[in-house]
Amino acid sequence: MKEHSLLTGHNRQNDLTKLFKHFSTNSSTELTLEHFSHINKKIPPRIINHNLKLYTNSLATDKRIRFFAPQATLHPSASGNNPYPCYLCNSTSEDSDDSIIHIYRHCMVTKNALALLRSLNHIDKYFYRSLINNLKNSPLFHLQYMVDSKKVKHRVSFIVCFNYAIWHTRRRARLGYVGDITSMAKRAANLTIDLQTYWQQS
Ligand SMILES: [Zn+2]
Repeated sequence: MKEHSLLTGHNRQNDLTKLFKHFSTNSSTELTLEHFSHINKKIPPRIINHNLKLYTNSLATDKRIRFFAPQATLHPSASGNNPYPCYLCNSTSEDSDDSIIHIYRHCMVTKNALALLRSLNHIDKYFYRSLINNLKNSPLFHLQYMVDSKKVKHRVSFIVCFNYAIWHTRRRARLGYVGDITSMAKRAANLTIDLQTYWQQS
């Protein structure tokens, strides 16, 4: 079986530890890395890579790349008040921007997708509450669980797939495949379930 390219090589642990310590908002670097070493090895590198970028604040959002690509936004409503609007919710609010903080903590598409996944019983109510009530220290960014239980493995698998599904939906929206908040949330929720189901069965 092919291993994740990011998780192979004798120096990977040192390299990742340095990376996390340098960039991450997460104080429990070692715990996060331990989760990644236990994750289902069938999950493709691009999804692991996406989560590593999210945890190290290196995702190429328009807000992030504005320093070297200030004209990178493709959003038709970009303006002086909000030069980098969110592609997911299309809100005109100044703080609804294409940044990881908005996308993963405040965006209504993300919140609605989580609510939908809860209503489908894909996640239990305690986990759901931790995701929506803990916005400043969300499990979507902070894998501060102990690693040795089936429930935790399911939660980490969910987080990795959900984070990627939101990003995939955002990327499509950036290219013009837009919809209302409900349909975008439904797309992200369905993709999360499909991704998780596929790797659990394969
Ligand atoms: Zn948004």
